[in-house]
Amino acid sequence: MSDCIFCKIVGGDIPSAKVYEDDYVYAFNDIDPQAPVHIVLVPKKHYDNIKDLDDDRIKISIFNAIQKIALDQKLDAGFRVVCNTGEQGGQTVEHLHFHILSGRNLQWPPG
Ligand code: IMP
Repeated sequence: MSDCIFCKIVGGDIPSAKVYEDDYVYAFNDIDPQAPVHIVLVPKKHYDNIKDLDDDRIKISIFNAIQKIALDQKLDAGFRVVCNTGEQGGQTVEHLHFHILSGRNLQWPPG
C-alpha cells in the first residue's frame, strides 16, 4: 500500500535498523522503544491485521523469525511477543506486525 509506513520501510523508502529478513518477513528496531530491546516484525506483503493473513508460508516465517531473533539477540532472560490488533487492541499502524520486547521486567496485565 502506497501510504503505509511499514510498506515503505520494507521497500527501503523509509530507513530502518534491520534486525532480520527472509523472503517473507522483515524485522527492524522500533523508533520509539518501550523496552531496551524493541523489535518490530512485519510480513513484507501488506495485511491490515492478523485476521487477513491467508498465506501459510508467511505464518511459518513469522514463527521462524521470532525464534531466530530470540536466539540471535540472546534474549535468554525472557521476552514478550505482542500483536496489537484493531482499535481496542491498541494498533496504530495498520500493517500486521509483532512487537518483540525484552531487556526489562515486563508487567502483566498490560494496560
Ligand atoms: P502499534 O501501536 O502496535 O500499531 O505499533 C506500531 C509501532 O510502530 C510503534 O511501536 C511505533 O513506535 C512503531 N513505528 C512507527 N513508525 C515507525 C518507524 O518509522 N520506524 C520504526 N518504528 C516505527
